[in-house]
Amino acid sequence: MKVPFVSIRKEYSFLKRKINAVIPHVINNESLLFGRSVGEFEKKFAKYIGSRYCLTLNSGTDALILGLRALQLSPGDEVLLPTHTFFATALAAVENGLKPVLVDTDINDFGMDLTDLKSKITNRTKAIIIVHLYGQAEKMEEIQQIISKDGRKIHLIEDACQAHGALYKGKRAGSFGTFSAFSFYPTKNLGGYGDGGAVTTSNTALAKRLGFLRQYGQIKKYYHSYVGINSRMDTIQAAILNIKLAYLNEWNHKRQQLAKEYNRILSPLTPDIKIPVIFPERRSVYHLYVVRALKQQKLISYLTSHGVTTLIHYPKPIHLQKALHFLGYKRGMLPNSEKLSKEIISLPLHHFITLHQIRYVARSIQKFYQ
Ligand SMILES: *Cc1c(COP(=O)(O)O)cnc(C)c1O
Repeated sequence: MKVPFVSIRKEYSFLKRKINAVIPHVINNESLLFGRSVGEFEKKFAKYIGSRYCLTLNSGTDALILGLRALQLSPGDEVLLPTHTFFATALAAVENGLKPVLVDTDINDFGMDLTDLKSKITNRTKAIIIVHLYGQAEKMEEIQQIISKDGRKIHLIEDACQAHGALYKGKRAGSFGTFSAFSFYPTKNLGGYGDGGAVTTSNTALAKRLGFLRQYGQIKKYYHSYVGINSRMDTIQAAILNIKLAYLNEWNHKRQQLAKEYNRILSPLTPDIKIPVIFPERRSVYHLYVVRALKQQKLISYLTSHGVTTLIHYPKPIHLQKALHFLGYKRGMLPNSEKLSKEIISLPLHHFITLHQIRYVARSIQKFYQ
């Protein structure tokens, strides 16, 4: 049996009639940039997340970079962020001339280690970017408490690029921070047929600035008050996302059900395999199903030879990336993240995988450890 990691084409064949109708409709009837479908998506997505504004952009990376730019921090200000995340989280700081300060990993939930986080807050700390990694919300109350107890003005920013629809005590990921960044990269829980991203925020001044920044910094056509860039979502992508947004809850639910099946078959395999720890007040949307495995590389090869595609998110923590060598981190400085990167494996899980395929993957893992 073949089990691919994602299945965009299966999803397309399910949506084919709607998608094939909407694309010519947009071309014939709407502006290709900032068309009606863009406004419609921004309104619907803001409502879905529970924030006042949604501004669509070209990518999740741009959402992080431009959102942070709109905060107007000073060069050299420090931004705390997890070392165990996708590189774009760190780019947000670096691209704005800010200093990323990397925080070690909580072995239980793959989020930030709060002791390490607390020890790294200084007078220069102006923002903390939390990442709702793999679809599970971060420890929101604990982190909000750390910030409010500290007393200094520190912005909470959410990288929600993997957490469309995730809940923390009934409240959506993406509604907590000064702003939140979303990605609509094709394989995300909500993805377009190309790049796309958005910022959600309830801060009116920030939303306004961001609206200028995504359009060359112009406040009206050909009048530039900011040094912005060009970062917009195509109307065609917004129209596609409007169709898909209607299925997001159903698809997330499906991922949750499929994850239960993985849990059922894999949990007896502890300690060879450790299933993801999901906390009841933090409802994961399982962007990824990540296990910790003894013999990571051997298991990956075994699964590959049995037709199962797996990935590692992520094989090298941010503090060890060559591009950020200048920050001065060395191996051993953020030990939990380094240990985890040698154990984690992302198993195939998406909203069009079958129960049959999930069982095949899980039973293959069972056989490997027998
Ligand atoms: C996907 C992702 C991004 C970047 O989004 P793009 O749309 O690919 O630029 C940023 N952070 C995290 C955690 C992501 O998973």
